[in-house]
Amino acid sequence: MSQVTLECHILDTGYCLAWEHHMIQGGQRRKVACHSLVALLKHQEHGWMLWDTGYAPRMLEATQTLPFSLYRRATPLYIQPRLSVAAQLARWQLKPSDIRRIIISHFHADHLAGLRDFPQAELIASGNAYADVATRRGINALRRAFIPALLPTDFAERATLLPEFNGPNLASLGPTYDLFCDGSLRLVSLPGHARGQLGLLAQTQRGQLLFAADSCWLRRSIYECRPPSRLTNFFVDDPRAIRNTIQHLHDFAQAQTDVVIIPSHCPEAFRQEVELSYEDN
Ligand SMILES: [Zn+2]
Ligand SMILES: [Zn+2]
Repeated sequence: MSQVTLECHILDTGYCLAWEHHMIQGGQRRKVACHSLVALLKHQEHGWMLWDTGYAPRMLEATQTLPFSLYRRATPLYIQPRLSVAAQLARWQLKPSDIRRIIISHFHADHLAGLRDFPQAELIASGNAYADVATRRGINALRRAFIPALLPTDFAERATLLPEFNGPNLASLGPTYDLFCDGSLRLVSLPGHARGQLGLLAQTQRGQLLFAADSCWLRRSIYECRPPSRLTNFFVDDPRAIRNTIQHLHDFAQAQTDVVIIPSHCPEAFRQEVELSYEDN
């Protein structure tokens, strides 16, 4: 077990409204706020980094015209400038140039929209994930919830694209990639929702956190082994792999009860983990 632990803050970057019975099979017919959570992490040697960048106001500009306006119509967005990650950094006396690295869980727009606020950061992503979206435009991009305009124009120069992982298995989640070779941040593959989707097991000052990206929307999908509705299959990469990934996460959660699992949009995780409240609205 790593002795290195990271400072970790979980931030909300805004939300969309989604039907609970779409988010999880057997869910209620009610609209649920789906926040887009990101993690701000500080490694004692490697400095500040981000897990995803969530929503940012440019998401509204990027979804003004067809075909990407269909995205916004499907998921109405509630975004405020002060909730962008770049704006929230001031709470820790940080500026965007202090962020050295950004790990991109996958290339869906709700995880990428803040990326262009960090023109100096190294960008870390799965090579398979990038290959799947790199040349997509228009409706082909939309079908993968990818909005090309959100990607920095120098993405390829700043990106470290990871090959298939071959590090030691993380129990049922399979091979890992140890980011700093000290066990503090280990990436795993969570296939199904998006090609090459990554998860991150972080050793933090408050214990182990598993950032599970969009492997499911609600944390209880994992505990109850209940995947999202098939209605969401339109834009996902591989529905069968989604079920397998949820089963693997279920097995992991049963064996590692001390690990807190944080899916990016889980309302329960938002309530429990997010430091920014809306009280000053
Ligand atoms: Zn996604
Ligand atoms: Zn998402």
